[in-house]
Amino acid sequence: MNTQTISRRRFLFAGAGVAASCALFPRSTFGQEPSRTRLILLGTKGGPSLGRIGRSNAATLILINDIPYVIDCGYGVSRQLISAGVSLDRLRYIFITHHHSDHNLEYGSLFYNSWVTGKGARVDAYGPVGLKKMTWDFFNYQKFDIDTRIVDEGRPDPRRMLFVHEFRNPGPVMNNEHVKVTSYRVQHPPIAEAYAYRFDTRDRSIVISGDTAYAPGLAGFARGADILVHEIMYLPAIEKLISQLPNAKRLRAHLMAAHSLPEDVGRIARDAGVKTLVLSHFVPGDDATITDEQWADGVRKEFSGKIVVGRDLLEI
Ligand SMILES: [Zn+2]
Ligand SMILES: [Zn+2]
Repeated sequence: MNTQTISRRRFLFAGAGVAASCALFPRSTFGQEPSRTRLILLGTKGGPSLGRIGRSNAATLILINDIPYVIDCGYGVSRQLISAGVSLDRLRYIFITHHHSDHNLEYGSLFYNSWVTGKGARVDAYGPVGLKKMTWDFFNYQKFDIDTRIVDEGRPDPRRMLFVHEFRNPGPVMNNEHVKVTSYRVQHPPIAEAYAYRFDTRDRSIVISGDTAYAPGLAGFARGADILVHEIMYLPAIEKLISQLPNAKRLRAHLMAAHSLPEDVGRIARDAGVKTLVLSHFVPGDDATITDEQWADGVRKEFSGKIVVGRDLLEI
């Protein structure tokens, strides 16, 4: 058993110790062929409402050797993929961080759009428990159309082409010759099944936080990553936004328990030692009065690396 095999086994059975295992899995494991990993933000808005200032709902694209890996499917993800230059028939992998609708509303539709665009290629979807039921609920929702098109247009049955992989615990999610994907449970109450994902490729390591309150363990999971994409909430704007609402107190408490303030985001990036921190999933995501400097100011108090204030279709 060579070192590479040992590392691989450690990785595959790491479970909760996944952060340490990432460091044990050498990039050379992926072989000698060149790899190019691109990160494109598809939608940077947090929350399910449709933004007035044009940010699309949460979705992120990682292209590895030109194969798309879509993380979260907020409303608009299909259109944003096309805008990013990825035709929908190229869809291959979908990852869902958690089952809030700003992350999964267009999950079924994205696959469907891929199905009617192309010749019908296999798609693999990964996500927390609940994903299988949601998939079949979607197929039932569109049963009439699907059954009609199979007959009228001679399309293959999409229900046999979407392979759903649910998980209930953090750890290894999938791997192939280009990438190893792992998950980490973050803190997003009341949702217990909320995960961050880490993509390790030959040339880059990218961590997507998903939705989370300050989760100190996330720094270990993201340790040494080239890029951390982290959600962020700007409290002054939230307080202004909700001050007039009858349920303001409860809403504020929920948001504080479930999302990260700029200083917390900076702490995670600093403790993880990442090179670049990308801010995305902005809460609130449709307040045009918040400047890039305001989003980054609190982060910068804790993190001295490169900070990118995300916007839709930005490539990093
Ligand atoms: Zn969200
Ligand atoms: Zn959420």
